[in-house]
Amino acid sequence: MPTSFDVIVIGSGFGGAIAARRLAEKGMRVLVLERGRRWEPSQYPRKPTDAWIYSDDEPARHNGWLDMRFFRGMTVAQAAGVGGGSLTYSSVATEASPDVFTQGWPAEITYSELKPHYDTVAREMNLQVIPDGQLTQRFLLAREAAKNLGYSDRFSKAPLAVSFSDDWNYQLDDPFNPKHSREFVNAHGQRQGTCIHLGNCDIGCDVRAKNGLDVNYIPRAEQRGADVRPLHLVRQIEPTGNAYRVVFDRIEKGRLIRGEETAERVVLAAGSLGTTELLLRCRDQHRTLRALSPTLGRRWSANANFISMATYPDKDSVRQSTGPTIASVLDFTDGKFRDERFVVEDDGFPNLLLAAIKAYLDNGIRTPAGRHLLKELEEYVRDDTPLRSLLLWLGAGKDAGDGQLRLRRRWFMPWKRVLNLLWEVENSKGVLYAMEAMHQNMTEATGGRPRALPTWRLFKSLVTLHPLGGCPMGVSPDNGVVDHLGRVFGYRNLFVIDGAIVPTPTVRNPSHTIAALAERISAHVS
Ligand SMILES: Cc1cc2nc3c(=O)[nH]c(=O)nc-3n(C[C@H](O)[C@H](O)[C@H](O)COP(=O)(O)OP(=O)(O)OC[C@H]3O[C@@H](n4cnc5c(N)ncnc54)[C@H](O)[C@@H]3O)c2cc1C
Ligand code: SF4
Repeated sequence: MPTSFDVIVIGSGFGGAIAARRLAEKGMRVLVLERGRRWEPSQYPRKPTDAWIYSDDEPARHNGWLDMRFFRGMTVAQAAGVGGGSLTYSSVATEASPDVFTQGWPAEITYSELKPHYDTVAREMNLQVIPDGQLTQRFLLAREAAKNLGYSDRFSKAPLAVSFSDDWNYQLDDPFNPKHSREFVNAHGQRQGTCIHLGNCDIGCDVRAKNGLDVNYIPRAEQRGADVRPLHLVRQIEPTGNAYRVVFDRIEKGRLIRGEETAERVVLAAGSLGTTELLLRCRDQHRTLRALSPTLGRRWSANANFISMATYPDKDSVRQSTGPTIASVLDFTDGKFRDERFVVEDDGFPNLLLAAIKAYLDNGIRTPAGRHLLKELEEYVRDDTPLRSLLLWLGAGKDAGDGQLRLRRRWFMPWKRVLNLLWEVENSKGVLYAMEAMHQNMTEATGGRPRALPTWRLFKSLVTLHPLGGCPMGVSPDNGVVDHLGRVFGYRNLFVIDGAIVPTPTVRNPSHTIAALAERISAHVS
């Protein structure tokens, strides 16, 4: 059957954008279907009534910035839009340490195998560190904590996908005025500006200082002819002859319009939750990919994300909404603290977070746990609250990676199957308690007062920004959904290239590892 495309890529985050570019560079006709919008700085959500919410239940009505899923014991945050998680991420691009790959990964994937690909991504995304003349208050607090605790040798600047100019500093007249952002054309022909510390990294950089996928890999793919279609939500994949039929809903003027395209190859790159859900539906609901491995949905990890809070008596000692959201890393990936492996990063949050919370509370949240979490957060970030001098410590680490994604029917809507996560905190408590203790030590070492997130204190419920797994790499269908080259067992020319294939926690931030895997796999696709 003649097809208009050689490959359909589903999703445009780290896996999808890189696959789209590299396959287009091989001369393939590439179609990218992305459920979210193509965002321009003038459209980033800012007011409570703006498009903050992406709702899985009502995508025609809510197709905004952030998709938050509230499962029992775990909230997962993920982006929607052309560029995927690079739109909302804090730009921290860390390599996993070599020992991560020694257990639970196919033998072909080692640190030295991935290293050239890490380097390629670092070059293409122009990684930098914050200049000495621009250190944020949070960076200084984290550095002081490390020094006071005797951990200076574990402390470093985080590699960031952000463009800095040495000309900028806090002493400038009106430092946050966009006139101080230096405009330039990047190596991919895209207009960008340099960072002026607006602190909006997670909600869209107003001056385009973030070196996200939307200013490097995606434009490169499009320059090579890739057709990138935003607001196309893929629903089903079905083998047909030597090709695959991909069925989607196009979101247009508040309506869903059914469509389909066919190609010889399909790359799933819809992220840990998105890809796993799509394949679960194809196996168990539509029954179009019945031979998928029984391990589908398994080995899901939250990368042990653990957020806690520190309040300081002096508001100016934190300035939580100023500067790159994260700028430093304290590294315990060698397991020298309580035998657990983790990192701690200084985490800011934008002033406008309150607007996002309000939008979710007004429109998006159905579960009591979700409402509780956001109500508590609202309390902490209100302008008039005495808790406003607040710092977040973000931890990531090696959890048990034993979550399971599956489809369930809701008792009040038995005709509909929804994605569900089975997650028990029990087996991951060691690393979580270690991070909690370290956060407390760091807070007390800098004169702050530690505060656990109420959802953790009361319910042992977590929030993750780093969902991984669900379609783990393995050596056979008995222990994985794909092989080390992202090839789905049992289906020729069907690939998964995103965080879903990562079979263990990456411990450090995952996007750089997902990107390196995407470079490696794309090099082999023919
Ligand atoms: C607030 C926040 C901050 C973060 N900060 C960092 C950080 O500093 N460093 C770091 O390493 N990581 C960070 N992360 C995590 C990082 O963003 C993810 O690990 C990464 O984006 C995962 O890449 P991926 O390719 O697996 O999926 P994604 O980047 O999530 O891309 C998946 C894409 O597929 C689309 N999609 C999903 N389902 C469908 C469908 N059915 N049809 C069509 N399209 C679909 C989605 O809209 C999305 O664009 C952060 C995440 C968040 C939410
Ligand atoms: S701190 Fe502001 S200017 Fe700098 S990258 Fe983040 S959003 Fe952009």
